[in-house]
Amino acid sequence: MTDTAEQNTGIRVRGLEKSFGGQHVLRGIDFESARGTSTVLLGPSGSGKTTVLRSLNALEVPERGVVGIDDVEIDFARLPPGKAGRRQSERLRAQSGMVFQSHNLFPHRTVLENVIEGPVLAQRRPREEAVADAKVLLDQVGLGDRVDAYPFQLSGGQQQRVGIARALALKPRVVLFDEPTSALDPELVGEVLAVIRDLAAEGWTTVIVTHEIRFAEQVADQVLFLDGGVIVEKGTSAQVIGDPREARTRRFLKRVL
Ligand code: ADP
Repeated sequence: MTDTAEQNTGIRVRGLEKSFGGQHVLRGIDFESARGTSTVLLGPSGSGKTTVLRSLNALEVPERGVVGIDDVEIDFARLPPGKAGRRQSERLRAQSGMVFQSHNLFPHRTVLENVIEGPVLAQRRPREEAVADAKVLLDQVGLGDRVDAYPFQLSGGQQQRVGIARALALKPRVVLFDEPTSALDPELVGEVLAVIRDLAAEGWTTVIVTHEIRFAEQVADQVLFLDGGVIVEKGTSAQVIGDPREARTRRFLKRVL
């Protein structure tokens, strides 16, 4: 692999700065994630985790900083105004699939129709191909026998798994999870975490915001601990969760474990 190719794989985040009104919520975020790895963002509420995640697909536009995913890179400070800037943001967005806290599945469409909507309408892929792919994905998330069900016939955990299949159906380079289990009843959390764990084990590149520390410990190749808009500590889960160096990380873990 040449140097250039190596630089252009995985996720690169440099110097992200973002304010909302007068509030400086990201104060220089830097990290890298190699392809095929899972990065978990931990930290107290309001520390900036979701804003980092949303910046990775330009759902938030930071004032400064660079985000690269494989061969697409944006320098936010130099984003051109208008259409050209929007086009760059869309190119970055197409690199990732986002799984939100809860999915607004189309209520009058079946599970299968919900999953093929993006590939067929947004990506203009042939319907038969999208259907075949969707069935494989739905099998993978344990819903191979519910393709013809409607969302109201599913549990919250099953709906969330449809949401994951829907994100994967777009064939993204990375999958971003924003607190994927925090809207679920406790007894449904495990089945969704198990699906995410399988995806990570299969080699998907994932970035996950979660409060499930034990899950983070199992799934993360890299843990970033954020507080006040900065990464206070980063390393393997054994380092950051098992043997935290920083007092702020220790205090946080003590509170949540
Ligand atoms: P976390 O995910 O760690 O809870 P967030 O990234 O959601 O933190 O939020 C960081 C800070 O930015 C919080 O103080 C939050 O209130 C603020 N914030 C996030 N999104 C917005 C927004 N769209 N408008 C104004 N403030 C926001």
